[in-house]
Amino acid sequence: MPPRVSPATATPTQEELDRPASASRPRPITPADLVERVRSYDPRCDAGAIERAYAYAMRAHQKQVRASGELYFLHPLEVARILTQYRLDTASIVTALLHDVIEDTEYGLEDVEKLFGSEIARLVDGVTKLSQIELQSDRSKQAENFRKLVLATSEDIRVLLVKLADRLHNMRTLHYIEDPEKRRRTARETLEIYAPLSERMGMQDIKQELEDLAFAEINPDARNSIQRRLEFLRQTGADLTGRIIKALRGLLEDNGVHAVISGRDKTLYSIWLKMQRKNIELEQVSDIVAFRVIVDTIEDCYRVLGLVHSTYPLVPGRFKDYISTPKPNGYRSIHTCVIGPEKQRIELQIRTPEMHEIAEKGVAAHWVYKQGDEKVEGAQYRWLRELLDILETAEGPDDFLEHTKLAMFQDQVFCFSPKGDLIALPRGSTPVDFAFAVHSEIGDTCVGAKVNGRLVPLRSMLENGDQVEIVTSKGQTPSPTWEQFVVTGKARARIRRFVRTQQRQQYASLGKSMLQKAVRQVGHRFSEKRLHAVLEPLRQSNVQDLYSAIGEGKITCREVYGLIYPRDERQPQEPVGKVLPLSEARTRRSRDDAVPIRGLIPGMAVHFAGCCHPLPGDRIVGIITTGKGVTIHTIDCETLDSFTEMPERWIDVAWDDRNGEARVGRLKLVLTNAQGALSSMTTVIARNNGNITNLKITGRSADFFDMLVDIEVESVRHLTNIIAALRATPEINWVDRARG
Ligand code: MN
Repeated sequence: MPPRVSPATATPTQEELDRPASASRPRPITPADLVERVRSYDPRCDAGAIERAYAYAMRAHQKQVRASGELYFLHPLEVARILTQYRLDTASIVTALLHDVIEDTEYGLEDVEKLFGSEIARLVDGVTKLSQIELQSDRSKQAENFRKLVLATSEDIRVLLVKLADRLHNMRTLHYIEDPEKRRRTARETLEIYAPLSERMGMQDIKQELEDLAFAEINPDARNSIQRRLEFLRQTGADLTGRIIKALRGLLEDNGVHAVISGRDKTLYSIWLKMQRKNIELEQVSDIVAFRVIVDTIEDCYRVLGLVHSTYPLVPGRFKDYISTPKPNGYRSIHTCVIGPEKQRIELQIRTPEMHEIAEKGVAAHWVYKQGDEKVEGAQYRWLRELLDILETAEGPDDFLEHTKLAMFQDQVFCFSPKGDLIALPRGSTPVDFAFAVHSEIGDTCVGAKVNGRLVPLRSMLENGDQVEIVTSKGQTPSPTWEQFVVTGKARARIRRFVRTQQRQQYASLGKSMLQKAVRQVGHRFSEKRLHAVLEPLRQSNVQDLYSAIGEGKITCREVYGLIYPRDERQPQEPVGKVLPLSEARTRRSRDDAVPIRGLIPGMAVHFAGCCHPLPGDRIVGIITTGKGVTIHTIDCETLDSFTEMPERWIDVAWDDRNGEARVGRLKLVLTNAQGALSSMTTVIARNNGNITNLKITGRSADFFDMLVDIEVESVRHLTNIIAALRATPEINWVDRARG
């Protein structure tokens, strides 16, 4: 049930607002204050929505208290207030107010959607998802990937802006958290994830504040020493900054340039980084103030530069023109460093007010332009285009631009291993790709996958934030059918390599039996030893290669026979005129050790699907059918495609060698339409202990029969043997298992 919203409850009572912990802090703003702030920069502000969200959040969080002892509600309120500083639209402010409702209270997304509409629901859902990702375990080693994940998850830029404001407020109140480990973890995450993200979004002031707050937590001693050093320099400098500003202003005014000049202390964290980067001692830190010159036009920027360079000696190597070549995050300014009026190194940043705004507010500044008269921006979505540039994706599909979605990393998907390692994969990747990305051996022995704790088909597509657990089985080998759905090069290469090896083994065993048959036909005893002598003339390096070449039809049995018995007039018949290519995708090596059908609920009926006729040794999955029990399919059965949307019906099963009764396998054959062909076939099957239970002619032409044959066999291995024997039978042109 959504909370009741009535105007009477929309304003916190005096008592609620004057809780002890907040006594020392400014009073929280009222709904009217908040609306007033938004209206001051956005005339289209929806006051009603903001007031309703205010009341709703207050109700939803009413019983919760933060670590500081404050009402929890003051947190979303503060996040909303921070966002008004960035002049964000009504939807962002409403989202800020509601951002913790779903995660932390009994109210759900449906309630939010009902009351505030789909746009707000989508934004709130986005922020909630980001918070859930945060809960995943240790990812400090994968900060870069994690930043990408955060970006990819925030499809709408406003989601990310709310998240950054949320993090900023959490960092401002971090010292209230009692658990030191939690404080450090949050601070480290802020430094590794959120400060760099703010920077990439061009939000310099948020970045600096986040860094400083995190620095205070992680290395308070270093921060304190730097602070003391700065105070010392400031005192001994006796208003050095003021004198420098005065001298610069004089220079510019004399030359008719109007400028606003300010001196700003560098941040403690940036000095700390510089000390580490340049390996310098604190005592050597001298330039602690950066000077900023703001002039009206770009032309003036270059005039100031010219005047400064012609008046003061330049410090080489420090001049940067980010106006002609903006930084990837959209930052523009001229930077230079000179030995200034007080014979001190001074750093100067020269820019226009617009550049300044973008330097401080970054993406949010673009957002404001977007909201205003769109003609001012020229193209309607220029802000987004710039944002995409900022995020270093030069090209995003146009439809993403149209839907104001972040095209960033749309071509990638980020998943977690059970240990919390983050694996980046191309979009469309499957659990098999994931398995090979983790380790080749895991890919090779992969038999199933759990995504977010649920078994899914191996061909399912992974999504951002999925936690993937690969089920492996010793002695298992890659399935050639995987090649149809994997997308990573690594997975494909490993599968192909395995298929090639397997194919060679199949050709070799086929070649061997062909040669044995040929030699015996003439009346000799087959001896492998004799073959070593003929390897060289046939240009084969070993006997296996020779067999395989025979199996593939590259070398005929006649040739080999002629070399083994050069003086023998008798010639063997070629047992098979032409060897058809083995359908390596369908025949697979069976497991030597069939394992129990596990995962089944006792008493549940088991059926074997009529479409694919699974046999012991086949890779199988069960599909649960209400009232019917479980139907077993082979993993590559096409029928499974119709169940991809219903992962809840899949069940992980494997063979139990205790249920060793015979099962029926179905073969599809093409026979030469000749006398005796049918009897050759039945003889071969019988000689290999197969029992024909059904036989159907499905097509007939002048030269060939098409037929289906059902055979009782013990296992897939048994059936594979029969297939191999049939392939070595001259009257049989083609044979394989029937599927689908
Ligand atoms: Mn929050």
